[in-house]
Amino acid sequence: MTNICCSNCFNPKRDSFHHFIKQHGVINNNLCPYCKSTDGIKIDAKVLGGFIKTGIDRAYDECEEGEDKLSVFEILNDRVILFEWENHEERKLTHDLFEGTQDEDIDAKRYCLKLESIGDDEEQYRIWRNFEHDCKYFNRFFDLTPRGEGNSNKRTEMLEKIYESCLKNLKEEIEPGTELFRARVIDSKFKRGRDYDLDEVSIGPADKSNSQAGRMNPEGINYFYVAEDEATALKEGRLRANERVLIGRFNTIKKLTVIDWTKANIYEKAVDIFSPKYSPSMAVYQDFLRRFAIEVGKPNETAKNIEYVATQLVAEYVRGHGFDGIKYDSAVGNGFDVVFFYGPEIEKENNDFNTIPDYTDIAKLTDVREFKIKIEYFLEP
Ligand SMILES: [Zn+2]
Repeated sequence: MTNICCSNCFNPKRDSFHHFIKQHGVINNNLCPYCKSTDGIKIDAKVLGGFIKTGIDRAYDECEEGEDKLSVFEILNDRVILFEWENHEERKLTHDLFEGTQDEDIDAKRYCLKLESIGDDEEQYRIWRNFEHDCKYFNRFFDLTPRGEGNSNKRTEMLEKIYESCLKNLKEEIEPGTELFRARVIDSKFKRGRDYDLDEVSIGPADKSNSQAGRMNPEGINYFYVAEDEATALKEGRLRANERVLIGRFNTIKKLTVIDWTKANIYEKAVDIFSPKYSPSMAVYQDFLRRFAIEVGKPNETAKNIEYVATQLVAEYVRGHGFDGIKYDSAVGNGFDVVFFYGPEIEKENNDFNTIPDYTDIAKLTDVREFKIKIEYFLEP
């Protein structure tokens, strides 16, 4: 029996995959048994399964041993993100794609990521995979360790490599006059005029006496976190009904250079297993970029400080290359966030110490308003 699926079953962003369906499929108005749409291009699931297998073989080896073994379903669903979000028959579809082949058991963990050459790349991949663990539990301050000892310096070298091959290309300039927003919840016991005002002190980065670790900053170093628009800034605050909040609008006052992590998907072509241009080395980097993007978007409130160490180190590294900040997709809002490596206003008498530059060097507060949250994210002035 032939199973027919359709183009609408799959993630519309997988270009080379859809190109294949266009070339080998047929157009009709039959109902697709998987995604229940009628207007997709129809294709025999087994023909498509053969094409998918070619892609898997391009990027993965069948392996006997190894800790990171994946099943075909994990590769397609979690790594390639092949299925359309609304398609809830992804398991049945995966089974039918491979019915009668050696991959029929879609949950058998048989595949390992292929690496360009045994040795160097394999070592790189292992270091990236362990980066987070090593930062937390093995050697946090790798810059201080003499060269030639263990993984620590390998990580420095790896950061250099990823900088040269990827990060450098994510450079973006933020023009002067760009509007950015910041929200701050007001303690319910606080009274305006007594405990806070509609001013810079109330809405800028906290001073060092009131410093908490964040995704990009260790405790003791406060950075300037802002969002693209008010809605994103509010969502970042994870506000609840009846809370009062200050929203500050800032305008940048000079040209600022950031690493734009939202552009990290420009490497997706290189890691598209269905494209003949697939590159194993880039896949290793892309895996790191993707995991970093997920990591920085996680909510701050639930994690322990140790959860931030790896992202803080990458931020520190980027700062060391002279960038003003990192731009990244908000995990909760529709817009982006930016962390600038600038802190609270500097107290003039402490000028003998090294201090993070003052955020007022790069941005000017142009408006502060106070709101009460009526229903989640609807505002009442
Ligand atoms: Zn379909």
